[in-house]
Amino acid sequence: MSEKHQFQAEIQQLLDIVIHSLYTDREIFIRELVSNAADACERLRFLQTASQPVFQPETALGIAIKVDEAAGTVTITDTGIGMSQAELVENLGTIAHSGTRAFLKSLEEGKKPDAALIGQFGVGFYSAFMVATQVVVSTRSYRPEDQGWLWTSTGGGGYEIEAAADLPRGTAIVLHLKPENKEFARPGQLETLIKRYSRFIQFPIELDGKRLNTMQAIWSRNKSEIKEEEYTEFYQYLGHDQEKPLFRLHFTADAPLAIQSLLFVPSRNWESTGMMRIESEVSLYCKRVLIQDRPKELFPEWLRFLKGVVDSEDMPLNISRETMQDTSLMQKLNKVLTGRFLKFLAEQAEANPETYEKFYKEYQRFLKEGVVSDYTHKDQLGKLLRYESSTLDQGKTTSLHDYVTRMGSDQNEIFYLLAPSREAAESSPYFEVFQQKKVEVLFLQDPWDEFVMEHLHNFEGKSLKAAEKSSLVLEKPATEQSLSDEDAAALSKWLKEALGERVNDVRSSRRLVDSPVIVVDQDQMMTASMRRIMKAMNKDRESAMPESKTDLEINPAHGIIRQLNQLRQTDAGLATLVAGQLFDNACVAAGLLEDPRQMVKRLNVLLEKVLTRPANG
Ligand code: ADP
Ligand code: MG
Repeated sequence: MSEKHQFQAEIQQLLDIVIHSLYTDREIFIRELVSNAADACERLRFLQTASQPVFQPETALGIAIKVDEAAGTVTITDTGIGMSQAELVENLGTIAHSGTRAFLKSLEEGKKPDAALIGQFGVGFYSAFMVATQVVVSTRSYRPEDQGWLWTSTGGGGYEIEAAADLPRGTAIVLHLKPENKEFARPGQLETLIKRYSRFIQFPIELDGKRLNTMQAIWSRNKSEIKEEEYTEFYQYLGHDQEKPLFRLHFTADAPLAIQSLLFVPSRNWESTGMMRIESEVSLYCKRVLIQDRPKELFPEWLRFLKGVVDSEDMPLNISRETMQDTSLMQKLNKVLTGRFLKFLAEQAEANPETYEKFYKEYQRFLKEGVVSDYTHKDQLGKLLRYESSTLDQGKTTSLHDYVTRMGSDQNEIFYLLAPSREAAESSPYFEVFQQKKVEVLFLQDPWDEFVMEHLHNFEGKSLKAAEKSSLVLEKPATEQSLSDEDAAALSKWLKEALGERVNDVRSSRRLVDSPVIVVDQDQMMTASMRRIMKAMNKDRESAMPESKTDLEINPAHGIIRQLNQLRQTDAGLATLVAGQLFDNACVAAGLLEDPRQMVKRLNVLLEKVLTRPANG
């Protein structure tokens, strides 16, 4: 004898929406029904641990799925809590009482069971009607005195309930697929979907007798109970990586969002091969059920090397994955996760300097990308940077913070010098004044670093300054034998004429010790290497950068300069050649000389002159 029921008005409305327009991803029905089955199992487990008598207590908890391609059906069976007749009406016929929520309410305050049982997926069950013309639920409650029931509906005209004899504990849901959705009755199809969405469900899931989920959702377990090997195994499974991860961060938070997260840094940065751009491999879960595979918005771009999972119970009553992207929840998650991960890196740099160094070697470009592109986090990122420095041995690096602690009390700027190697930095004319005055300079080797410094701008209240642009000067000339001020001024004037177009201004320098000359960017806006990069970037464009004019500074105490001042009066032709060569030498030191062919030609003329000149004296 079956009993006819109408759906509550709201449910009927909801069903119409579900059937006709709500879910764009129809495949999601399997995620919802498997989640309900897992919830039912979780609730039974809770009753058992609370020593409640249950029907068929020996039956193991689990979920079994069967497909019948010929009949076009999918059956999802669980051995969970089941439903009584009244519960069928209440849970599947009305919306006000989501069973899970009612169940939670019925629990005493403060005695909250495992949070994993809260399956707040809102309209989950009704998603069955997206793919099925008819849904048949046969269920037997855990209560020993109860009996089995059969619930049948085609969605449109309400539902029927009738008694059913001899049912085992739990629930079986049979979906009679719509003709256009028959593909879900192919085992391969369903296996893919279950593995995607439900592979971390805590109860065994079998499809036609084959176990589909073997890996535990260890992120939702207590840290202290997880063995190192389990973490490694999990990482290798999730990250498809043979190696161990370089770093692991397992953390939980309650406020401002409930988050359980397990993040890994792979031991290798695959982007450094230059072959590809890596994409974040962190997926978003809600209570171990996949909500979104690798959502782009979960982390900033520069953290795209991370792998792992983020599980948040604070998903809004989730309707579909599309609506997730509209919520500000993703932004909030992003903020919390990024801040936490940066804090973690800072801690690791302190506690595990060797591993941090490895990390830095592999991933420094990402941190630098962050400084340049992520204004919110640039200060935190600045703390993570490491550079070689003039006061440290080759190969050793310092943080900006440590540099600041070493600064003299009258020093207000953090100086840096970009050079292709340490040797080049130490022999750079721009370094001379620093060396003489014992002022520390950071040696930057990555061409990106100057942009990074420009963006960082200052650190702990000290501004970052390129050595080329520093206003440091020597107290007095390096040697006694220096050109007089008048001679130096006259030579400068002559040099400017001799070099013509190439130079903007020539003047005496007060920062050179061993070098005869140095070039300085006229507008002081850019260092030479930045200019080089800008040029390279604009190479193919019509509106290339205007040709820069540089200033030349001369060292009046240098032998070449003193000699040149005499030579210009005795052999102006040769002196002009020497002037041109000196200027090119300075450009080479600054990394500015682009085409050396002219220089080589001139050098050959000079050599010939030297060789054919009568030996003097
Ligand atoms: P939610 O899971 O968010 O509560 P659903 O629409 O997915 O919403 O399910 C409605 C209710 O139906 C559940 O709360 C639960 O009480 C009941 N239910 C659904 N599937 C099962 C099942 N397999 N076993 C027992 N109860 C179920
Ligand atoms: Mg549900």
